[in-house]
Amino acid sequence: MIQLNNNYKEIANQAKATLKRFSMPLSDMEIFFYMKNYSALCFFYYLNTNKSIIKDSVFYNKKYNNIVNDIQQQINTHKIDNFLHEKQAIQDLFITPFLETMETLATFFESSFYQKNGYKPMSIYPSKNGADISLLCSFFTEQDSQMKELFLETLNNKRIFNYKEKNIIKSDGITLFNYHEGFSDVFIRKKKSTIDFLDTFVHEFGHVWDFYNLRQNFSFEESSMYAAVSDYSEVIPTLNDLKFYKYLIDNNINKDEALLGLANNIYNYSINLYNIILLSQLDDEKYKYAVENFISEEELEMYLKNQNSNFPTNFCLHKNSDIEVNFEENLTYSFGLLLGCYLLEHEEQLPLFLKNRTSYSSISKLENIGISIPEVNKAFVKTINHYFN
Ligand SMILES: [Zn+2]
Repeated sequence: MIQLNNNYKEIANQAKATLKRFSMPLSDMEIFFYMKNYSALCFFYYLNTNKSIIKDSVFYNKKYNNIVNDIQQQINTHKIDNFLHEKQAIQDLFITPFLETMETLATFFESSFYQKNGYKPMSIYPSKNGADISLLCSFFTEQDSQMKELFLETLNNKRIFNYKEKNIIKSDGITLFNYHEGFSDVFIRKKKSTIDFLDTFVHEFGHVWDFYNLRQNFSFEESSMYAAVSDYSEVIPTLNDLKFYKYLIDNNINKDEALLGLANNIYNYSINLYNIILLSQLDDEKYKYAVENFISEEELEMYLKNQNSNFPTNFCLHKNSDIEVNFEENLTYSFGLLLGCYLLEHEEQLPLFLKNRTSYSSISKLENIGISIPEVNKAFVKTINHYFN
């Protein structure tokens, strides 16, 4: 069994070490990243222990907070402008594969196989001593020996934490990047040993591997910026999810569970895709309003219907009316799903993608390195048809 660390002392130590950096001369960007790091560490410590380790002198420091707010504001504006600039290309990239696969996915979700098994918590993965680790290790070994080393190193250094907080953050796994030291802390919500539980590790170690490689190949500022804001930050973790399910299905390891897990995974990601497509139907002013006011998916659908938008909004898969449209999250998971499927089909393109990706998405830059819109569309449709048709 994988031992999740219940002791958060290491997090408190890291917060203390980050605090010490503020006694040295720092650039504005360093202040931004270290403040982000410090707040996240204190926040996670508090969420899981109910104890505050915040030092007011830094946390409420006016100068630091102004710098953080200014840079954050610049990032937000840049993100919105970039989206509007990319809108047509994003529509070309996102809409066709979405429309071409929804029917197939809907039929799969309505099938008796899914209806019988898909809504229940998945069956327990047979786990005797060490079985979980061995399955993860054999997957990581096949995938990338560096990923396996990072997994074992993080585990041995007791930086895979048991994520106890239940109500505030829905996600089952979170990876915190320590900007200065260049390593990651991984938080995993403890669950029964299912394929879905193992996939949480696979996904989070996609982030760990991604951060590690960024730090090796880019400057402090570039890699930190990428870790903090990138539109592509979910690409490698989603590619990992897809590879893991493919690995299980191809090797006949809990095949039914893996297929259901893959379907649920793709469904969750495609909700993001749907929301971005809806947002891309708005004119610039309405778009800014929707993004800044976190309107719901239902409100957005209603608005488009009243505007006689020609984009169909009645997908049986997407009936979750209380879903808040979260532009940033929706965009990163959409790129994650589409580029993840593309890289699954075109592994030879991965090094080029890793080398040329930018913090803010640029579809023309992707096309310059040979990742074209029709090819991405084709790869996505092919993956869905392969597993669910
Ligand atoms: Zn992720």
